[in-house]
Amino acid sequence: MDNWILKSANTLVNEPQQERAVSADEVKVKVTYVLASNFDAVLYSGTGGAHYPKTIGRFAVGRVMEAGADCYGVEKNTRVLLKPTRPCGKCLSCKTGKEEKCSSVAIAGRDFDGFLRDFVVCKYTDVAPLPDSVTDIEALCTEAVALAERIYSRLALPAGSRVAVVGCSFAGNILAQVLQYHKLIPIVIDNSPAALDKARACGIYYSYLPDEDLAENIREATSGQLCDAAIYTTCSRLDPAITMRVLAEGKCAVLAGFAPIDFNIPARELCDRNISLTSVMSGYDYTDTAINLLVHDAVNTDVFEKEILTEYDPNAVYKAMSETVGTRKNKMIIFKMIL
Ligand SMILES: [Zn+2]
Repeated sequence: MDNWILKSANTLVNEPQQERAVSADEVKVKVTYVLASNFDAVLYSGTGGAHYPKTIGRFAVGRVMEAGADCYGVEKNTRVLLKPTRPCGKCLSCKTGKEEKCSSVAIAGRDFDGFLRDFVVCKYTDVAPLPDSVTDIEALCTEAVALAERIYSRLALPAGSRVAVVGCSFAGNILAQVLQYHKLIPIVIDNSPAALDKARACGIYYSYLPDEDLAENIREATSGQLCDAAIYTTCSRLDPAITMRVLAEGKCAVLAGFAPIDFNIPARELCDRNISLTSVMSGYDYTDTAINLLVHDAVNTDVFEKEILTEYDPNAVYKAMSETVGTRKNKMIIFKMIL
């Protein structure tokens, strides 16, 4: 029986969890796949604000084994995504029935137990059924698509707007694809030629290295107007100043991603150019929208290399990931849960 609990920084311990009965509005899910993410790796390293002890694992899919009498839309054998975010239940929005506006969203692995375990018992509203056309592995990308949808909705830009995406590994690539699906024009910037190639393979036309030609390239791509928004992906470890430099005056910079990493923002450029700043760190409330986009093949996830592990030591996997987060191996590492 697997249940990998983060006891303290760099210490995951496998301890069986206590069995508990399923109440009327709950489901019991057998976890099948868990994506090892940068977010988990940051928690593992001790810098992500984990509240120990917590079971690790933010992104997972599984199959319903048991459903209570008051569960709707899910039954025994339904394939489901385990939602990686939940309303906090404590803020004003939550207390007044507006959970979709929760100001303090709880995240799996940090604020409540994550999913690197054999079974999860949770409310039926904390899982999302997966249509047949969405594979388990594709479904592991749902939160990245949801994050992109949330950003798109927050920016509320008209079609044809030019949006820079700084950093285009996993989350950045998916973000660019979602913006393109919504008829915005993504301009991706990354210091990895391989990541730029992957973006081009997904149909992203404007893709640049952050080199001495960048300023000129951006002017060319925007007819001299610069970008209508710029999104900095937090795990990219690229220079955040790039985000300000590619933006037209008075536009919006977005800090986005899953991993809350410390970095410095060039405040003077921000103030001088009247740039507004916002952050989006989860796809909360956009899970169903994201699954619908996956059904419509809006996002190509085939482009990512995948490694499915059947035998593993999660300590070694997360340790390696937290050490190489700067080099951003453009790969999905997936734990296959075998009971
Ligand atoms: Zn709340």
